[in-house]
Parts: sequence; C-alpha cells; structure tokens
Amino acid sequence: MATSEKKLKICSKGHKYYKSSDCPTCPTCEQERKPADGFLSQLSAPARRALENNGITTLQQLSKFSEKEILQFHGIGPASLPKLKAALKEEGVSFKKLTNEK
Ligand SMILES: [Zn+2]
Repeated sequence: MATSEKKLKICSKGHKYYKSSDCPTCPTCEQERKPADGFLSQLSAPARRALENNGITTLQQLSKFSEKEILQFHGIGPASLPKLKAALKEEGVSFKKLTNEK
C-alpha cells in the first residue's frame, strides 16, 4: 500500500524531510523552536561557551550577574550585551544592579 511510503515534504522554510503521515510538523523547525537554550542560540559560539563555562544556561541564572561581571567572561564582547539585555527583558528580568556602580 502506498500509505506506508514515506513522502518527501518541504516546509514553509524550505527544510526537506520525509514523513509517512500527513503530519505537517517539520522536525528541523521543531528543533529550532527548542525553548531551553533560546537565548544562547542567539549568541556567537565563543559568547555561548563563556556563559556555559560559568554555569549560565538560563536567563534566570544570567540575571544573577551584573553587566560588568558578564563582560569579564572570556569570549563575551560588547556586541553580545544588547542581545543578552533584550533576552532578559523578554523574560521580565534584568542584570544584577550594583549599588556602588557609577
Ligand atoms: Zn522546517
């Protein structure tokens, strides 16, 4: 029967995949939507490694650090900061504020 045959499908983003059912879910898109490392996936590889090496894999953990502390991590450049700030803002949190900072 032809119904058990896998058919080549192409999703709206152009990913090719094979599915035997009529399920329209594209596995590549599904993986890209993974929420766990959403903000990390926006960063450059060195910046991502720098955060991971310091035990930061979530925005909640990131918010326990100040902007200054994050910049001291090897691999984090000033270009990464706006992305991190935007991600924190979306989560409703922000970098730790230092009271003695000018
Ligand atoms: Zn896709």
